Amino acid sequence: MAEFGFTPGAVLPNGLGRTGVIHTPHGDIQTPAFIAVGTKATVKAVLPESVAGVGAQAVLANAYHLYLQPGSDLVDEAGGLGAFMNWPGPTFTDSGGFQVMSLGVGFKKVLAMDTAGLANDDVIAPGKNRLAHVDDEGVTFTSHLNGDQHRFTPEVSMRIQHQLGADIMFAFDECTTLMNTRGYQESSLERTQAWAVRCLAAHAELTAERADKPYQALFGVVQGAQYEDLRRKAARDLAELDVDGQRFDGFGIGGALEKENLGTIVSWVAEELPFDKPRHLLGISEPDDFFAAIAAGADTFDCVMPSRVARNAAIYTADGRYNVNTAKHRRSFLPLEEGCDCYTCTHYTRAYLHHLFKAKEMLAATLATIHNERFTVRLVDNIRDSIIEGRFEEFRDAYLGRFYSGRR
Ligand SMILES: [Zn+2]
Repeated sequence: MAEFGFTPGAVLPNGLGRTGVIHTPHGDIQTPAFIAVGTKATVKAVLPESVAGVGAQAVLANAYHLYLQPGSDLVDEAGGLGAFMNWPGPTFTDSGGFQVMSLGVGFKKVLAMDTAGLANDDVIAPGKNRLAHVDDEGVTFTSHLNGDQHRFTPEVSMRIQHQLGADIMFAFDECTTLMNTRGYQESSLERTQAWAVRCLAAHAELTAERADKPYQALFGVVQGAQYEDLRRKAARDLAELDVDGQRFDGFGIGGALEKENLGTIVSWVAEELPFDKPRHLLGISEPDDFFAAIAAGADTFDCVMPSRVARNAAIYTADGRYNVNTAKHRRSFLPLEEGCDCYTCTHYTRAYLHHLFKAKEMLAATLATIHNERFTVRLVDNIRDSIIEGRFEEFRDAYLGRFYSGRR
């Protein structure tokens, strides 16, 4: 049981933001850290050696996708997620709840649209059908692959995640959107709390049943949307939860977050959570979001965005983002980002990447992904150094000033 733990390190003057080390059976994670996303047990377009090469310390896969294909029992038989995908380091799985509950609804976790005046518990995006139905026991949903009906409950999610064998798992929770009414958010939180109790009980049973396997840590997920009282209560309730001696090893901060309120919401939650347990924020990747979330006390992050936009030729640099497939880069023999230490920038030019994207060559996605993942991992690593060296605010102001003024 002592195979998982968190050691806090340097702390910001606000008492919330910090560095630390998460200890797992597959190695340590120096935090704050950006966790590479490997939804289907692969970081799209790159070898695990490249994932390690960009400095990523851990990979996060998705329980929903791996349950449907190839099946969590098969991953278990292969020796677990890390062995199956040839990633020797720490791994995370998310519970599948977000994917299941947003199926077909057509909304992203952070809503881009104006939500004013649209509070409605049944709202779905135009042209979409709701494919998931939530009740107090669990969620019934339709597979996006073949239309088959499936049912996830807290117990099912825990069994799937134990079979996947990641070092860090997340409790099965109900995901709401900013569109849901206050009343719905309240009853949803009660349901998520009841599911958290069931997740801890199932986790304890599975841990005993699979005592020959390395310990898997379980994080509770704090919901509560944009409401301060709900977020604080959810964090306190999860932090205090004890089911026959089984407690959460860490916490995820989930649900709908508007960009403007991100730091505020994370700080409400961090103030209520125990200081000696790690906190994961699901789904952020923009530089200003990292600074805000880290200052407010988040330790780890995951996001598909750096690799997703890379496959569409969007390149992150310290001077902002640009598209390498535009005409101005056709004869540019500079690296994607001057001074970048990644494999792509030390071996290839913009002109070559431009050519690969225009010719629709697969290597385009590989090389662009390596750069964007390195950019993101390095940024979070540099933020960690700035906390240790007591110059977080200066670093943030200089970095964001340059990133958001640069236009290429
Ligand atoms: Zn690079």
